[in-house]
Amino acid sequence: MTAAKREERKAKVIEVLNKARSMELQAIHQYMNQHYGLDDMDYGEMAGKMKLIAIDEMRHAEAFAERIKELGGEPVAEPAGPIEKRQDVRKIYSFDADLEDDTIDAYNQFLQICRENGDSISAKLFETIIEDEQLHLSYFENEDNHIETLGDSYLSRIAGTPSATGLTPQGFAIAKGGA
Ligand code: FE
Ligand code: FE
Repeated sequence: MTAAKREERKAKVIEVLNKARSMELQAIHQYMNQHYGLDDMDYGEMAGKMKLIAIDEMRHAEAFAERIKELGGEPVAEPAGPIEKRQDVRKIYSFDADLEDDTIDAYNQFLQICRENGDSISAKLFETIIEDEQLHLSYFENEDNHIETLGDSYLSRIAGTPSATGLTPQGFAIAKGGA
C-alpha cells in the first residue's frame, strides 16, 4: 500500500474518532447539567449516579483524544450539539436513553469504518466504549420505567437521599495536598 493510501485510511479513522469525541463532549455537558438539576430537586441518589455517568463520558472523550493523537490527528474541542436545560425529572431518563441509543448506533457504524480502514485498535476502543454506553442505556431505561410505572411514589422514595458517589476525589490540586 502506498503512503498516500495509508494517510487516506488514517484520516477516515481520525474523522470518526473525532465525531465520537464531539458526541462525548455533548454528553458530558448534558449529564452535568442534569446532575445539577437533580441535585436542586433533591433527588440525591439520581444526581450522584448522573455525576458518575458524566465522568464515564469524560473518560471516553479522553480515550478518543489519546487515540487521535497516536494517529497524528488533532482532537476536536466542540460538542456535537447544544444541550437541553431545565428538564423535568419525568423527561430526563427517556431523553438520555434515546441519546445513548443513538450513540451506540453511531459507534457501531464508526467501528465498522475503523475495520474497513484496517485499524483494529480503534475498532476495539469503540467496542469497549459501546459496552459502557450499553450500561448507561440500561440504567436510564430502568429509571424511566420506574418513573413511568410507579410515578410519585418512586420519586418520593428518591427525594432527600444522599448524592454521595463514593468516589475518592482525584486531581492535580488534590495530589499537591490542596482542596
Ligand atoms: Fe460515552
Ligand atoms: Fe454514555
